[in-house]
Order: sequence, then C-alpha cells, then structure tokens
Amino acid sequence: KLAIGILEVQGAFNEHHVALRKAQKCLNIPDLEIIGVRHPDHISDNMDGLIIPGGESTTISLFLKRNKMDEPLRKWINSKGHVTWGTCAGMILLSKQTENQKIGGQPSNCDTDDIYHGVFIRAPAVVEICSPEVTALATLDRSGSGQTEVIVAVQQGNMLATAFHPELTDDVRWHTHFIEMTCMAKRNSNV
Ligand code: GLN
Repeated sequence: KLAIGILEVQGAFNEHHVALRKAQKCLNIPDLEIIGVRHPDHISDNMDGLIIPGGESTTISLFLKRNKMDEPLRKWINSKGHVTWGTCAGMILLSKQTENQKIGGQPSNCDTDDIYHGVFIRAPAVVEICSPEVTALATLDRSGSGQTEVIVAVQQGNMLATAFHPELTDDVRWHTHFIEMTCMAKRNSNV
C-alpha cells in the first residue's frame, strides 16, 4: 500500500489532502494512506512520499527545529526510494540557497506540456540551476509573450519543487504526477 505524508505544521495542508484524494480517483489507485506529519514519530519508512506545503517558510522551519523534526526529515528526504514534493514555502525549505527576491503575487500562466494556470502567492522562483542533476519542469510566462522569465518547477532525483500552489486549483495533474513518481520509486526500491 502506498503512503504519502503531508507536513501539517502550517499552511495549505488540508488542500493537499483533498487534491491527493482527487488525484487518487483519477489514477484509480485503490489504496492510498495519507499521513498527517506533525511529530518526529510520524517520520518513518512506512511513508513513501512526503508533501511540504506552502505557507510561511520561516514559521515552518522554526517549528521543525523546535520540535526536533528537522534532522529526521532531512534524513528521510535523503533516503533512497523516498519522494518529496515542496510547494512554494516547501520549495524554499527544500532549496540549498535562497536570495531574498520577490516575484509574482498574481495568478499567472506557466508552461508544462500544456498551458497550466498556476496560482502564485508571494512565490519563490528558481533563479539559477546549480547542478546538472536538476531539471526544470516549468517556466513562468508572466507577460504572455512566450518568453521564458523564471523557472517555477524543478526536479532533482526524487525531489520535486513547485513555486506555485497546485492544491489551490481543480487541476490535479501535479498531484497525479507526484503519486506516479512515488509509486515508481517504491517499485524500484523493492527490486
Ligand atoms: N514567501 C513565502 C515564504 O517565504 C512562501 C509563500 C507561500 O508558500 N505561498 O515562505
């Protein structure tokens, strides 16, 4: 059985819960356990995937430190077969380096295979890809001119990060993508 955790510290965790259930239906997966992660004991190998939601990254990181969840989470994320997705503040928490620069603030378009309407709320953006292991999955076209301005979705191995909030829309394509990534990683780590 697949188990996906959602970090329930602050921010849009309930919305991720709802979106995951919708995506589960789309994919027709009979068994998906959703674990609310609020305590170090919730971080275990029983969990195959983890969503770090949007909210306020400073608040979330302080909570994690104070409740001694930061190190266990780092270990869990870096363990083979575990898949993590950070949205917005979650993207900031997954990043190695941040600059204090602000973009967005308004709902905008970003490119995937198809045009995807992303919701951006005081959003971060990727200004530089520092490793060949990182792939850009989506770029933002604020002006509508088709010109790439900033990268707003990236993947590095089993880590996915999006600057926008897919859980605040009815479009569950990013959630289905994440469930599929998690299924695949689980399958591969069982061989
Ligand atoms: N700018 C916020 C932060 O620093 C992120 C905003 C969001 O998650 N919507 O955490």
